[in-house]
Amino acid sequence: MSEAYKFLLGEDDIPTAWYNLAADLPEPPPPPLNPATGEPVGPEALAPLFPAALIEQEVSTRRWIDIPGEVLDVYRLWRPTPLYRARRLERQLGTPARIYYKYEGVSPPGSHKPNTAVAQAFYNRAEGVRRLVTETGAGQWGSSLAFAGAMFGLEVEVYMVRVSYEQKPYRRALMETYGARCIPSPSERTEAGRRFLAEDPHHPGSLGIAISEAVEVAAKDPEVKYALGSVLNHVLLHQTVLGLEAMEQMKLADEEVDVLVGCVGGGSNFAGLVFPFLGEQLRGGRRLRVVAAEPAACPTLTRGTYAYDFGDTAGTTPLLRMHTLGSAFVPPPVHAGGLRYHGMAPLVSQALELGLIEARAYGQLACFEAGVTFARCEGIVPAPESTHAVRAAIDEALEAKEKGEERVILFNLSGHGHFDMQAYADYFAGALRDLPYDEESLRRALEALPQVG
Ligand SMILES: *Cc1c(COP(=O)(O)O)cnc(C)c1O
Repeated sequence: MSEAYKFLLGEDDIPTAWYNLAADLPEPPPPPLNPATGEPVGPEALAPLFPAALIEQEVSTRRWIDIPGEVLDVYRLWRPTPLYRARRLERQLGTPARIYYKYEGVSPPGSHKPNTAVAQAFYNRAEGVRRLVTETGAGQWGSSLAFAGAMFGLEVEVYMVRVSYEQKPYRRALMETYGARCIPSPSERTEAGRRFLAEDPHHPGSLGIAISEAVEVAAKDPEVKYALGSVLNHVLLHQTVLGLEAMEQMKLADEEVDVLVGCVGGGSNFAGLVFPFLGEQLRGGRRLRVVAAEPAACPTLTRGTYAYDFGDTAGTTPLLRMHTLGSAFVPPPVHAGGLRYHGMAPLVSQALELGLIEARAYGQLACFEAGVTFARCEGIVPAPESTHAVRAAIDEALEAKEKGEERVILFNLSGHGHFDMQAYADYFAGALRDLPYDEESLRRALEALPQVG
C-alpha cells in the first residue's frame, strides 16, 4: 500500500476505449420491446431519437469500443480525474478500513455526466444533427449537455422539472451561460406537457414527464435528436472511462479493492465505476463486493419490481426490462434530485438479478450527516446525490471497525454540491425530513405496469 494521499494519472493515461459489460455477462441483456407488439424493437425504432453510432453502441456486445480522438480532446479539459485516499475521514471514524474515492466533481459542470454528454454531442454532430433536446431534474444533466453542445457547436434545449427550475436558478443560469435554452416542464410546447398541465396547472413536474416532452420534440423534427443522461447502455458505456482510470489508480496505490460503492439514480456513475471491475471478475478475476446506494424515498432497486416498463411517464418510449417503481410513480421531492427516477439502468438491474451487486436504501438525513462529516474531513462538499455513496462507504468502514477487519473501500464521489448549498442550508436549519415513499401510490403505479408476453 502506498503512503500517498492522491493518485494522479497524466493526460496520456486517459483510456482510449470504453468497456462494455454486455461482452462478459453470462446471458445477453433482455432487449427493449415495442409496447404495441411486445416484439424486440429494431434500430429503426430508435433512429428518430438517436444517431446511428449511439444505437449501434446501445446493442453492441463488443468488449472495447474506441473513444474518438475529438472526444478525448475534450476529456483532456478535466480528465484523468483524481483518486484520493480519505485519510482524515479514516482517522475521524477510527476505522482500520482504507477508504479511497474517485472524484468526478472536477469536470467543468461539476459531475460525471459530461463523460457521456461530450460523447453524445460528438456522435450527433458527426451525423449532421443541429439541435439536441433533453430533460433535466436537478440540472446536472442539462448543464452537462449544454457544456457538451458548446464544445461541438450544437444547439441544446432542456426541459427542466418545474420544481427544480424554480428552486435552482443557478443551474439554469449555468445552462444559459453555455448557450442552452431552458424550459420549465410540464410546458405548453408539447402535447404531453399540455396534458399534465390540464390535470394540474401548477404541476411540479417529474423526470418522467420531462422525458416525455423532450422525446416528443425530437420525434417530430428530423434535425433534432434526443439525449439521455443515464439508464441506457451507451450512457453507461461512456461512463466506464472513470472506472478504467480508477483501476489504474488503485494499482498506483498498490491496493486491491474489497468493496466498491456508488450512488444510483439511473445507474450511470455507479456502472461507470463498477463495470470494469465486474468485467475482470466475470473473466475469472478476484471477486469483490459491490454496493449500490439509493434514496429510501425512491427505492428502485430495494423495493421495485424487475419488469418491462416505460422509460417515461406518458408511455411513449420502448419498454425496458429494469427494476422499476412504475412509470406513474412520482417520487417525493428529496434534495437528491438526480436520484428521483422511477426506473434503473437495465444493465445495473440485470447485475442485481445475477447477484453481482447488492443494493441499500438510505434516508436523506443520514446522507447529509455523512456529507457534512466528509466535507469537514476531506474538504469537498459532496452533491446531495453523492452523499448516498459517502453514507454507504462510511457504514462499510464502521462495520469493518466493529469486526476489527482491514477492508479496502473505493467509492465514486460523482459530483460537488456547490449548486446545492440550499439543501445543506435546509439541513442545518433542521428543515429536512426523511420522506418515505407512499406505499399506496407505489402499489397503484406497479399495478399499472404494462402487460408483456
Ligand atoms: C445525475 C447525478 C447522479 C445520478 O445519476 P446516475 O445516472 O445514477 O449516476 C449522481 N450524482 C450526481 C452528482 C449526479 O449529477
